[in-house]
Amino acid sequence: MTDLTTSVQKLKGIGEKKALAFEKLGVFSLYDLVSYFPARYEDRTNFCPIAAAPEGEGVCIRALVADMPRLVRVRRGMELVKFRAVDESGSVDITYFNQNYVKDYLSRGDSVCFYGKIERNGSRASMVNPAYEKEDKPRGVTGCILPVYRMKAALNQRTIRDAVRQGLNLCGEALPDLLPAEIRARNGLAQARYAYENIHYPSDFDALAIARRRLVFEELFVLACALGTMRAERARESGLRITLRDFEPFYAALPFTPTDAQKRAIAEAAADMSGGYVMNRLVQGDVGSGKTLVAAALCWLCRESGYVSAFMAPTEILAEQHYQTLSGLLAPFGMRIGRLTGAMSAKEKREAKAAIAAGDYDLVVGTHALFSEDVVYGRLGLIITDEQHRFGVKQRSALIGKGEKPHVLVMSATPIPRTLALMIYGDLDVSIIDELPPGRQKVDTFAVDESYRTRLNGFIRKLVGEGRQVFVVCPKVEDDEDEETPGDKKLKSAEEHAKELAREFPELSVGCVHGRMKPKDKDAAMAAFVRGEIDILVATTVIEVGVDVPNAALMIIENAERFGLSQLHQLRGRVGRGQHKSWCILVSDNKGEEVKARLSIMSKTNNGFEISEEDLRLRGPGDFFGSRQHGLPEMHVADLGADTQIMKTAQHEDSPGRGQGPAGGRSAAHPAGARRPAQAHRDAVPE
Ligand code: ADP
Ligand code: MG
Repeated sequence: MTDLTTSVQKLKGIGEKKALAFEKLGVFSLYDLVSYFPARYEDRTNFCPIAAAPEGEGVCIRALVADMPRLVRVRRGMELVKFRAVDESGSVDITYFNQNYVKDYLSRGDSVCFYGKIERNGSRASMVNPAYEKEDKPRGVTGCILPVYRMKAALNQRTIRDAVRQGLNLCGEALPDLLPAEIRARNGLAQARYAYENIHYPSDFDALAIARRRLVFEELFVLACALGTMRAERARESGLRITLRDFEPFYAALPFTPTDAQKRAIAEAAADMSGGYVMNRLVQGDVGSGKTLVAAALCWLCRESGYVSAFMAPTEILAEQHYQTLSGLLAPFGMRIGRLTGAMSAKEKREAKAAIAAGDYDLVVGTHALFSEDVVYGRLGLIITDEQHRFGVKQRSALIGKGEKPHVLVMSATPIPRTLALMIYGDLDVSIIDELPPGRQKVDTFAVDESYRTRLNGFIRKLVGEGRQVFVVCPKVEDDEDEETPGDKKLKSAEEHAKELAREFPELSVGCVHGRMKPKDKDAAMAAFVRGEIDILVATTVIEVGVDVPNAALMIIENAERFGLSQLHQLRGRVGRGQHKSWCILVSDNKGEEVKARLSIMSKTNNGFEISEEDLRLRGPGDFFGSRQHGLPEMHVADLGADTQIMKTAQHEDSPGRGQGPAGGRSAAHPAGARRPAQAHRDAVPE
């Protein structure tokens, strides 16, 4: 009896050693095996007359063996089989190295299909070690689309292909169809059996596309269901019930009218918080979209129910800025706002902690210090973290441990498409602020090369002369830092460039911040810039995160080709925050088409979501998110960058019948021992 759970070792040609090699690929059972999809394909569908075959490219020819294959001994241990093959158009000399059995297998007059590269020398054509199959035998390596698998030592392509063929023959009928029939029908998706057959052995490229689409859909659908289930489970976890209030009086008292997008995000979060379960929501909004106001409104709501909020920022400076901003917004409502950061003196900290424990504050703004062990909150109802990708998940849960299941709001200024956000942030609900407050001016962006340097310096001089400040971002800290890219000597380092600018502008004050500085020194330099004591701040990407210097009107990014689009956009968001007309200059001497295309997107749009979609499309999700550190689920067939359309449909199909999940329930559909896609994905989901 064989079924999906049968070990691959039961297959012909697979012994203990090969079975072990398969295990290294994560393949134990037949189900694993047929789910081990090709990494790529080789197009061997094109047959060509010998005379017309292009040189040096893989082609198939159909030819007769024209003379008896003969064995030629070149030297000890090196034997060749040689013969000539002909078709109507011409002839080709064929040679096999160390494959003596060819001599016995092929004879004169056989009609054979070969696949290989033709070399030409004058009028003579030759092929070395081409794949061969007699025309009247079932064919698997010529005249077809050949699957190519990722493999490990002790296996070769032929072994894997043979094994997969056997696996499909043995249990193709038993393959579970994870997609409910109506979803399959509605989306025009192939059946499981067809998909598995054609992803390995496509009869043509259309069949391959149909198979792939079905499997991508399935993978994303199963993932969407798993995430949906996690969200649903969390939704059942009862949380503090915050009383819902009318926000209009709050809005009316603000110095400006909230945008519709802000109101929507506030309403979504408020519904969570008053719904009786624990909120876990991500608010994504472009730089300057006004996320702080969303936070403020929710802190206010919390206070109205008698709960305290904690707002955590990733750096001292940001904590200080948020403290000022939130105080400005909330003090008029009689809210008491406290502060707790690592930079405070021991005495100040002690006092702040005592006040927190005594319930003297409605809102505490701070850094990591907010969740040091000796901080005790009275009635902690809401935790807000800003720029979440700067915080580890651990830190976030430490803070959550501070209260009785407080609500959690995470704010991120890295806009990514919603469909993708739902996957990356796993069980977080997502709100998107897709609108900027009115009257925001566009930051004019230009890409220039070195020849523009003198004019650029003139521009700096002019703007600083008008009282403005300038950011300059460099890709690295010091000059000797570049081991990974030898030859790329010209990358600007922040320290060197700062010295250069100091020489160029002796009358101006030039500062420098980078990640290798002590946090205290870094904060001091940033603070001096915020106070206007520094005219030109040279920095690495440490200034990426939301520092607000409304007087800064020029952002210069050196070696702009070194940065991802989303990162460039983040950096650009540091200027244009005040009433001054602002510019962003991308300096790059790179003449590559792709670099030019990327930088020109920056000049064209100021919309972070558009930019992130382009970025994702151009770089693929791996690079986009800095490999796996963002907890992107690892995909089997789906490409999170390219398959966005299928992703949308799959997510949409999940939502109507969320509780239901894949057909037959996940565990029933997967015999014990077989890899369970849902489970595998669940493990890959962050947190
Ligand atoms: P983000 O944190 O999303 O980058 P902020 O919350 O710092 O953005 O807001 C950016 C600026 O826009 C702040 O100066 C803020 O006062 C202002 N702002 C926020 N919402 C509005 C609004 N609805 N109308 C006008 N200005 C707004
Ligand atoms: Mg912000």
